[in-house]
Amino acid sequence: MLNAPSHSSDMDSLHLVMQLLQTLDNGLILLDADYQVQLWNSFMENHSGIATSHARGQNLFKLFPELPATWLKRKIDSVFSLQSRAFCTWEEHPRLFNFKSTRPLTGHSALMYQNITLIPLSGVNGQVTSVCLLVYDVTEIATRKNELESANRTLKKLSRTDKLTNLYNRGYWEGCLEQEFKRCHRNKRPASLILFDIDHFKKFNDTHGHAAGDEVLRAVAKAIRETQRSTDVSGRYGGEEFGIVLPETDQAQALLVAERLRETIASTVVDWEGTPLQVTVSLGITEYSDMFADYSSWLELSDKALYQAKKDGRNRSHTPGS
Ligand code: GH3
Ligand code: MG
Ligand code: MG
Repeated sequence: MLNAPSHSSDMDSLHLVMQLLQTLDNGLILLDADYQVQLWNSFMENHSGIATSHARGQNLFKLFPELPATWLKRKIDSVFSLQSRAFCTWEEHPRLFNFKSTRPLTGHSALMYQNITLIPLSGVNGQVTSVCLLVYDVTEIATRKNELESANRTLKKLSRTDKLTNLYNRGYWEGCLEQEFKRCHRNKRPASLILFDIDHFKKFNDTHGHAAGDEVLRAVAKAIRETQRSTDVSGRYGGEEFGIVLPETDQAQALLVAERLRETIASTVVDWEGTPLQVTVSLGITEYSDMFADYSSWLELSDKALYQAKKDGRNRSHTPGS
């Protein structure tokens, strides 16, 4: 009888702790070494739809066959044996339990993102008897981070893309040319540069209007995309000037690419409000040389070759040697 008051206060404390665990806004699961559920709070009950009375005594992997059993068992086992905490963030595994997101704001994921903490719990003898698995709902943080990353990717793409043609813009493309210049310098590998310009485009605009000219610029960009190889890098260098960097390509091969492109463009017919429109281009092609002080010298020589192609009558390709 002497123990009665203390026993009753122990029961009170236990009752309070149990209530606390039930109202916790995180998932809480207590597991024994055989992965059997000893405790299951209302967060788990509400999100899984599995009642505490049903979960208790059941094997966690039977309750959730979709769990990554091998990985999670190894993780739980290590908490038992090393007697130390373990973590798993949503960035490694977006979620352990396929619970629906309870805060379906615009753009939010339909499924909950979760961070998981595994804590060893020991009995009075100091032995680890259970592992406590805490499930944190981090959907809002994860969604915001994903949105931010996606916005950054879009911004990055926009900042290097020419709006009219969807090719790289001059700034980004020149950066690529500079990289290729350095790579050639370092590795003594060949590469070529094609610079080209639409013929008599001023007259074309004057005759057909600026909007028709824009449509032709888009058609030229399409022809470039269709002609270039996956490793070639093309960009809009100026108003109606374009550049293509061709890695691992000597001048003779680049001339073949340039001629193919020239013929493709010359034979492309753009239908502009019922009027068929065609343009031609002149191209300057140069191979990388150790004589170049920097990538600007490479550009200058290509520009000279392009000027020569114009002078020789346009709708043609020119190399410094030709
Ligand atoms: P050339 O054969 O010597 O290259 O003659 P060109 O008339 O093409 O050369 P010029 O440099 O005198 O003219 C370039 C023209 O390109 C002038 C300009 O109106 C036009 N242009 C530049 N950017 C754009 C654009 O974004 N849209 C349209 N429609 N035209 C553009
Ligand atoms: Mg021009
Ligand atoms: Mg021109």
